[in-house]
Amino acid sequence: TTVTIPEKQSVIYYDKTGGPEVLQFSTDFPVPSDLASNEILVKNRYSGINYIETYFRNGIYPASFPYIPGREASGEIVAIGSDVKNFKIGDKIAYLGNQNFAQFTKLDSNKVSIINVGANATDDQLKLYAASLLQGLTAITLINEAYNVKEGDYILVTAAAGGVGLILVQLLSKIKKAHVIAVASTNEKLNKAKVNGAEFLLNSSELSYDQIADKILEITNGKGADGIFDSIGKDSFEMDMKSIKRKGTIVSFGNASGAVSPLSITRLSPKNVKIARPQLFGYVTEPEEFQFYTESLFDLIKNGDLKIDIYKVYALKDYKTATIEMEGRKTSGKILLEIPN
Ligand code: NDP
Repeated sequence: TTVTIPEKQSVIYYDKTGGPEVLQFSTDFPVPSDLASNEILVKNRYSGINYIETYFRNGIYPASFPYIPGREASGEIVAIGSDVKNFKIGDKIAYLGNQNFAQFTKLDSNKVSIINVGANATDDQLKLYAASLLQGLTAITLINEAYNVKEGDYILVTAAAGGVGLILVQLLSKIKKAHVIAVASTNEKLNKAKVNGAEFLLNSSELSYDQIADKILEITNGKGADGIFDSIGKDSFEMDMKSIKRKGTIVSFGNASGAVSPLSITRLSPKNVKIARPQLFGYVTEPEEFQFYTESLFDLIKNGDLKIDIYKVYALKDYKTATIEMEGRKTSGKILLEIPN
């Protein structure tokens, strides 16, 4: 069945930085046209929502306007350029790529980060791919590359009931067999982290980050955590420095409270600490890397070792509500957008 490609589409966009109020929903935004010979046009079905969108919208990361958010999605190929050999119309794909809070997205078919999931992929599978790809790859690469977690390590995870957080907690406890110390802002979230494998639970609404550091030292007999996966950034950085073990590794991978202030490297000396500040794309740049980690991810999901907790699926037009809830720390697990037909 061939899909007729309309001239206009529904998208979320903004043309200035700011809070959620700058987000617009349009039903007559132009569909990308003039496919180059290497390009494909995908009709999106589900797009994953990630916290990183807020950094572009708030101006922490640079954006050009009009800006259509979206970093990962799944859908069906509806048009291909004349030189495209590796995909055909009707193929279903999951991909890391930009501008997919939209019905249609144009992609370079030679890009590393597209997975052909087969023409027969079901709607539920497309949902699962869009729900797991970016956050799953982030968690897997962080615990193997940023700090290769060892069995028996004590590992601190912040936002432990969030999208990346819940995946980290499961992989650290089940696959790496580490002791997971979870930080989250409500008991409900902490309970979710516990169900997913966290051993120690610390509530950041009841304890200051400094008090949390003291608790971590208590849990580890004064030694500190072997590794820290911190996505809060600015507010929790001193907690990390206080609670990391001698020769431990701090992996700072997010800015939910703002970017970490510049620091002098001599601060690493007292405990011979390592700090990493990675981004996912630097771990899945080469085709072999992307393939290796996506296969690992989908195997873990298939085996049942990793469960993707889909908290809520919002309609595309409701992205503003979705991000207000996410930024207000009301969501846990993964949130998604369903793209209208
Ligand atoms: P989450 O589902 O984890 O949502 C963000 C969570 O951050 C909130 O639920 C909240 O959990 C916590 N949080 C802590 N402090 C604040 C604050 N001041 N304001 C708002 N939220 C706060 O989002 P994602 O799973 O999409 O992403 C998690 C983190 O990982 C983000 O920081 C993101 O930028 C980062 N990331 C980094 C990548 C990389 O390549 N470096 C790739 C993917 C994600 P609680 O209420 O429990 O504290």
